[in-house]
Amino acid sequence: MHTFEFIRPKNPAQAIAVAAGAKTAQQGADIRFLAGGTTLIDLMKLNVETPAQLIDINRLGLDKIEATPDGGLKIGATVRNSDLAYHEKVRRDYSVLSQALLAGASAQLRNMATTAGNLLQRTRCVYFRDTAMACNKREPGTGCSAIGGSNRTLAILGASEHCIATNPSDMCVALATLEATIHVQGKNGSRAVPIGDFHLLPGNTPQRETVLEPGDLVTHVTLPPPVAGSRQVYLKLRDRASYEFALASAAVVLSRAPGKVTRARIALGGVGTKPWRSPEAESVLVGQPANDATFRKAAEAALRDAKPQSENAFKVELARRCLTHALEMATTG
Ligand code: SF4
Repeated sequence: MHTFEFIRPKNPAQAIAVAAGAKTAQQGADIRFLAGGTTLIDLMKLNVETPAQLIDINRLGLDKIEATPDGGLKIGATVRNSDLAYHEKVRRDYSVLSQALLAGASAQLRNMATTAGNLLQRTRCVYFRDTAMACNKREPGTGCSAIGGSNRTLAILGASEHCIATNPSDMCVALATLEATIHVQGKNGSRAVPIGDFHLLPGNTPQRETVLEPGDLVTHVTLPPPVAGSRQVYLKLRDRASYEFALASAAVVLSRAPGKVTRARIALGGVGTKPWRSPEAESVLVGQPANDATFRKAAEAALRDAKPQSENAFKVELARRCLTHALEMATTG
């Protein structure tokens, strides 16, 4: 591991002022914020991340979960994943988020990992984590070892010829269905970014994963008021029952009137280069009877644009079945 300077700012403004001096917001950035460290420290040990300065944001008061005046929820950047998953209001009103968080990692990791860290979680592509291998995300312009290589777990939606890495987050898939907003403070003030705009497709700049600029600090996430009467499910399929990333997952927030679906928010995990909201599946569902035929059509629509790699064609049908089953779970019992 490279040596680094450890900085403990007194307030968010000081943290942002230090971080705004970063040369780049990309991988290998010279300045990083440190929250739970469950991704960053691992990557520093592998020399994938080599910041010269780490800014500790754990003591800036960003660890609160509060109701908002409109009936929604404000979640601080350094709220631990366990605290969020077990929060009474999250369990009751945003259960898809609680389910997704509890499906992620291990209890020990959830006790450390934070909301903002989870938003910025980096890919598990094995070549990204191995500095001996070519990787456009880690070192732009070197190539992508995963294309034609070991790509069983990688993306079938949103990939480019430069990168096919999967976004590994469960939490972000749930946040996509809840239409969360990410609040960012930077050197030019604060701004709010809808979750769907926060993560970027790889395109020809896979090293750039979010809209964050140097010095930008995620301060909190807000959720709109819960949708009364909605049923919420997060279903995650993986190689083993725990402490494993999704091969395919589905988040579903569904409302029904007698005989038909009235509102649907659908997102997929484990298959996209970013948390994958599916307006295609949502429009198939709304106005239709909540039955197996509708669910299967929605799943077909969600995966219509899938482009498998050499080892992961199985993910197309796996993701379809995952979504179909999640919809069944949301409409039975
Ligand atoms: Fe790197 Fe992306 Fe290719 Fe993996 S898929 S080797 S992260 S460029």
